[in-house]
Amino acid sequence: MDFSRLCLHTITTKPWAIEEAMDKYAGAGIAGITVWRQWLADRDIAKVGEQLRERNLEIVSLCRGGFFPAKTAKGLEEAIADNRLAIHEAAALGAPMIVLVCGAVPGQPLSESRKQIADGIAAILPLAEEHGIRLAVEPLHPMYADDRSAVNTMASANAICDQLDHPLVGIAADVYHIWWDPDLAEQIRITGEKKRLFAFHVCDWMTPTTDLLNDRGLMGEGCIDVRGIRAMVEATGFTGFNEVEIFSPRWWSKNQDEFLDRIKQAYVEHC
Ligand code: ZN
Repeated sequence: MDFSRLCLHTITTKPWAIEEAMDKYAGAGIAGITVWRQWLADRDIAKVGEQLRERNLEIVSLCRGGFFPAKTAKGLEEAIADNRLAIHEAAALGAPMIVLVCGAVPGQPLSESRKQIADGIAAILPLAEEHGIRLAVEPLHPMYADDRSAVNTMASANAICDQLDHPLVGIAADVYHIWWDPDLAEQIRITGEKKRLFAFHVCDWMTPTTDLLNDRGLMGEGCIDVRGIRAMVEATGFTGFNEVEIFSPRWWSKNQDEFLDRIKQAYVEHC
């Protein structure tokens, strides 16, 4: 089996701290890792980066930055400061990319939040340039438009990328968020054509979904045509990782070694 393009997000195996996750992933022959920032708390980030490279794990991205919108000037400044911190963390870790969950504020017009998102990314771009870190805007499913992201479609993410028009600004396409979009094929094509398809995240959509945030399924458990979307992504020339990103107390409550086996099996059969 070929797992050379399989990447796991550390949150997928939430019960494992970074040290355990890196040993287990490497032991399972998984090639890539996307590190969530919480996994670096109280750690020497540069040392973690070294440990990952020693295990031949390719650091795909740091997850996550974003949450730019705010109702006050102070809130906007704090968001930019946190994103600059994320860039420094990515540089220390040796991660070439940061995933941006862009943010939204309940009650604030989405148009205003989108403007703040574009302004926020523009504000951190000089530091991203200094460190050569790519910024991947991840459109989130519209059910999160209230408080997690005002960027909810590939078209909306592409509009922000068009506005900023910078080679370090692109898109993280996550099947969970975009599978329903009637314009998906065309938008993936455009994203690839503009050389801004930076990342591809996979999981599945459960029916019924019992929790808006934490009920993601393993590929094959739900209704997303993961393989079909992967084909669209790869038709653009994308050769990056298939990043498994699953939030699920149902899976987290199980033996994580067995879950890791199931992920590899699902990757082979459904991805
Ligand atoms: Zn994602």
